[in-house]
Amino acid sequence: MKIIQPHNIASKFVEKEDFERAKNDYLSMVEYLSSRPEIYALAHSQITDCVPLRFFVFNVYNKFIYDMCHCLGNQGTLLINSGIIINPEIHFIHEKNKIRNIESCASIPEKNFLIHRHKKIGVKFHDSDYLFGALQEKTRKLSMTFSGFMAYLFQHEIDHTNGINICDNGEEISTIGIQRVHDANY
Ligand SMILES: [Zn+2]
Repeated sequence: MKIIQPHNIASKFVEKEDFERAKNDYLSMVEYLSSRPEIYALAHSQITDCVPLRFFVFNVYNKFIYDMCHCLGNQGTLLINSGIIINPEIHFIHEKNKIRNIESCASIPEKNFLIHRHKKIGVKFHDSDYLFGALQEKTRKLSMTFSGFMAYLFQHEIDHTNGINICDNGEEISTIGIQRVHDANY
């Protein structure tokens, strides 16, 4: 498995007929991420140039992701235990004002982009039970609110599932002289 060049193919919602492919690719992505601990998360669209499926995987081998989830209490525990976010959709934006965030992307190595993000969003998604649980496709979507880093991460990954990359909606910048809180690599 490898990360491919960015493309603009929108992802297909994961339905029962996609479960086999989703499970296989999810396992390959987790194995790959174990060797790339600097990456925060990886969308399925970053590894396939066929029609991608609408999901992304958290890199639980990334300490920052692990710590951020830990700070979120029960919600964060659920995210870490799930490891996969399936069919995510932003259903609510809490503030119209956007803030500027500097991001990089595993699909666009060694480049940084300035991008405008919502500070706080509500997201609906399926967790791993949808794919691996006994009830599978009958599980209901979860609803969570995220702000700050987790809100930016969800927006970055959901953009990927919509066929949008930071080179499409961001402005490439040099980060020389800019103090980064952490190396963002989504
Ligand atoms: Zn990315």
